[in-house]
Amino acid sequence: MSIKENLEKIKGSIPEQVTLVAVSKTKPVSDLQEAYEAGQRILGENKVQEMVDKWESLPKDIQWHMIGHVQRNKVKYMIDFVALIHGVDSFRLLKEINKRAKKADRTVDCLLQIHIAEEDTKFGLDKKELQEIVASEEFQKLENINIKGLMGMATLTDDENQVRREFRQLKSHFVELKTRLPEIDILSMGMSGDYKIAIEEGSTMVRIGSSIFGARK
Ligand SMILES: *Cc1c(COP(=O)(O)O)cnc(C)c1O
Repeated sequence: MSIKENLEKIKGSIPEQVTLVAVSKTKPVSDLQEAYEAGQRILGENKVQEMVDKWESLPKDIQWHMIGHVQRNKVKYMIDFVALIHGVDSFRLLKEINKRAKKADRTVDCLLQIHIAEEDTKFGLDKKELQEIVASEEFQKLENINIKGLMGMATLTDDENQVRREFRQLKSHFVELKTRLPEIDILSMGMSGDYKIAIEEGSTMVRIGSSIFGARK
């Protein structure tokens, strides 16, 4: 199936209020162009340099989402155009984004990444770190970032119950955080293999790559 057909199929399988991020990492610009021509305007990348290169060669109404782990020294390269940073997993990174955003005279939307998977290979804050950041005075003073919600990745496993449990946990962190930050409205969870479960558990944004663009090498 073509990228266009895949996109249509995915869009037909998710509720209208759930936002689709088409994850185009490692794929050539021609594939991204095809997705663009099919009407997709939100693309997700996990490496800053690759995202910058693609941003330079594609139409400027694409919203670029950084979904991967971000090194602090790379923030400056994407600060002018990034639409949403999903993987904020430390206070130091958040402060760097704020500093660069201020210099660029903009406010940048961010999600805090929470560690929900049982595997310890995945990045993210634990519950205590999340609470500490949000409760700190320093956090209140960050004027050039806008926390829009949470992001998380479930364990890569065939055990649906485990995946569901992990998403449910992330949703409960979201509900709790919303009492402190009522304006948050994005819960980024779900990939090609688990997005249906994620939506059942309250996802508002899914990040789907291989089901749209095909398997990566
Ligand atoms: C690669 C990636 C995805 C998409 O994965 P697929 O299984 O190809 O849909 C989603 N989220 C993150 C953080 C990723 O790195």
